Amino acid sequence: MKPNALICTKTGEEYPLNEPIWQSPEGHLLDIRFRPTLEKTLIRNRSANLWRYREAIPIEKDENIVSFGEGATPMQKINIAGVDVYFKLDFLFPTGSYKDRGSSVLISKIKELGIRHVVQDSSGNAGSSIAAYCAKADIACDIYVPKGVSGAKLAQIRAFGANVRIIDGTRQDAAEAAWEAAQRSYYASHCWNPFFFQGTKTFAFEVAEQLGWKAPDVVILPAGNGTLLIGAYIGFRELMKAGITDKIPKLIGVQAANCSPLYEAYQEGLPYIPAITALPSIAEGIAIAKPIRGNQMLQYVELTEGIFLAVSEEEITDALLLMCSKGYFIEPTSAAVVAGVRQYVEHFWEGEKIVSVLTGSGLKAIDKIITVLKSS
Ligand SMILES: *Cc1c(COP(=O)(O)O)cnc(C)c1O
Repeated sequence: MKPNALICTKTGEEYPLNEPIWQSPEGHLLDIRFRPTLEKTLIRNRSANLWRYREAIPIEKDENIVSFGEGATPMQKINIAGVDVYFKLDFLFPTGSYKDRGSSVLISKIKELGIRHVVQDSSGNAGSSIAAYCAKADIACDIYVPKGVSGAKLAQIRAFGANVRIIDGTRQDAAEAAWEAAQRSYYASHCWNPFFFQGTKTFAFEVAEQLGWKAPDVVILPAGNGTLLIGAYIGFRELMKAGITDKIPKLIGVQAANCSPLYEAYQEGLPYIPAITALPSIAEGIAIAKPIRGNQMLQYVELTEGIFLAVSEEEITDALLLMCSKGYFIEPTSAAVVAGVRQYVEHFWEGEKIVSVLTGSGLKAIDKIITVLKSS
C-alpha cells in the first residue's frame, strides 16, 4: 500500500496521486489517501494564510502553488438567539467565498500536472473562484453556468477571462453539460475532483488553531454539494490522527427546505439520496437536487452523530436581515446556514461550543438582497 494514492470510492482500486484523472476509468468518484504532517511549532511561524499547513497539502513543489495569500479568515463570536456562536468569516476570501480554499489547492495541482485547459460548472461562486485561480496560473477554463445565474457572479467569471457557457436549463443541466465536456478535458469540479477537498479541509485546521488547537463540539455547515462539509470532516479527522485534537466535532448540515434531498434521506433513515421535487430557493448556492457526493455526506454526518436541518425561505430571509442588522453583508445562501444555527440553538443545543461559517459576500447577490429589503 502506497502512502499516497487516488482511490476509487466504489472498487477501492488505487491510482498514483500524479495521474491526471478526476474519475476512475469506470467513471466512479475518487478520494485521496495522503498522510499529512501537522506540526504546531512549524505552523506557528508561518504567514497567516492557508498554506501555513503546507505539509498537510498534497502539492509536491512550492513553485506550483497558486495563491493570493488566502485563508486564515477571522473567527468572530456572534450572538444568535441568546447563544454565542463562533463564525468563520469566509466571505472575506479574494473572490468573495470560501470556494477559494479548494480552488487554490486544486489549481496548484493542475499546474503541477501540466494541464493547460479545464472545465467546471457552477451556480456562480465555484466558477468565479476557479476562473480567478486559472487567470493567475494562465490556465484556460470553460465555465458552465445555468441561465439566470446572479449577474455579479457571471460578471466575475467573465472578468477573469473564462469562456462562459450558459446552459438553457437547470443547475443540474449545467453540471451534466460540463461533465460531458470533461470527458475530453480535465474536470476542475468542486464536487468530483478530490483535490478540491484537500483545500476545504483547511477550514478545520484554522478552526482548531484559532481555538487553541482544540476541536469545537459542534460545527454547522451548508450542505449543498458538501464541499465544505466533506472537507471539514477530512480536516478534523487528520487533526485527530495527528494527535492534536481529541475528537471530531458533531457535523450539522443545513439545507434549504425547498431543495433538501439529504434532509429527507436523514429524516427517513434512507441509506441513499432520494429523488426529490425541488422548488427554487433564494439560497441558490445550496439548491442541489442530486449531490454526487450525497452518500459520503450522509456517512460523515452520521459518523459524527450529527444531523441535517432544513430551513424555510422565510427563515433564510429573516436570518439575512438579522445578520445585516449586525453589520454582516452576506449572500442569502450564507444566511441559510445562519438560519440553521438558529434552529439548532433553539431546538437542539445542549450547552456545546458551536462553530459555523459565513460563506459568501452579499456583494454577490445585490438584486436578491434588495428584493428582501423592499419586502421587509
Ligand atoms: C458553494 C457555496 C455553499 C455550499 O457549499 P456546498 O459545497 O455546495 O455544500 C454555501 N455558500 C456559498 C456562498 C457557496 O458559494
